[in-house]
Amino acid sequence: MTELVCIGTSDAFGSGGRRQSAYLLRAPNGGALLDCGQTTGTGLAALGISRDEIDVIVVSHFHADHFGGIPLFLLGAQYQDDRTRPVRIVGPPDVEARVRRAAEALGHGIEEHDWSFPIHFQEMPSGADMELGPVRIRAFATHHSPEANPHGLVVTAGTQRIAYSGDTGWFDNLPRLIAGSDLFLCECTQVHRGYEYHLSLEELAGTRGDFDCGRLVLTHLGEDMRSLTDYGSFEIADDGLVIKL
Ligand SMILES: [Zn+2]
Ligand SMILES: [Zn+2]
Repeated sequence: MTELVCIGTSDAFGSGGRRQSAYLLRAPNGGALLDCGQTTGTGLAALGISRDEIDVIVVSHFHADHFGGIPLFLLGAQYQDDRTRPVRIVGPPDVEARVRRAAEALGHGIEEHDWSFPIHFQEMPSGADMELGPVRIRAFATHHSPEANPHGLVVTAGTQRIAYSGDTGWFDNLPRLIAGSDLFLCECTQVHRGYEYHLSLEELAGTRGDFDCGRLVLTHLGEDMRSLTDYGSFEIADDGLVIKL
């Protein structure tokens, strides 16, 4: 069985009372968490999901709503779960330094604890396939705040291929990079074209025919996206939504 559980589907600001980005991919051989926003612990608890299900955390980029939940994920694994299995944290270049700095700034420095489980950091270079235990991933650079080292992901789990945009504005290569996926989880922060580093419903409606994928589900929804009642031909993610693959 392969399924994607949407743990958090809001923009950075929790619009609509939803949680920040986090998606659990349950693959035949384990679990991969795609992004780990600051509200991930709340989401896992609300949905009754054990941290122990997660073998690997894949970070799309270094914004708080995508990786800010990692320090307390690790702390919970240690002190609530008595975890012994390794946690692998994978992300764009500099991932280890970024996570360590964030953890320290938030008061839970990684080197301050005698961990009951190994923590492995691994960088994902753009365009190269990586085997990560339960999944295989390939990262691609996106059009988003450059200092956050933004990437999207193509994740293969069993026979299924899931593409995830991470955060991005429009760039012409996007349809080619996700082509052939069974599911494309695509950010759509705004209704109308505006801030250049996020996608809009307006742009996606105009380019829907360019995307060669199975289901296309919109996520990372901002306030104006949440207030719509008609999304045309698009599916919309929500916290707790389970997508069977
Ligand atoms: Zn974001
Ligand atoms: Zn971002």
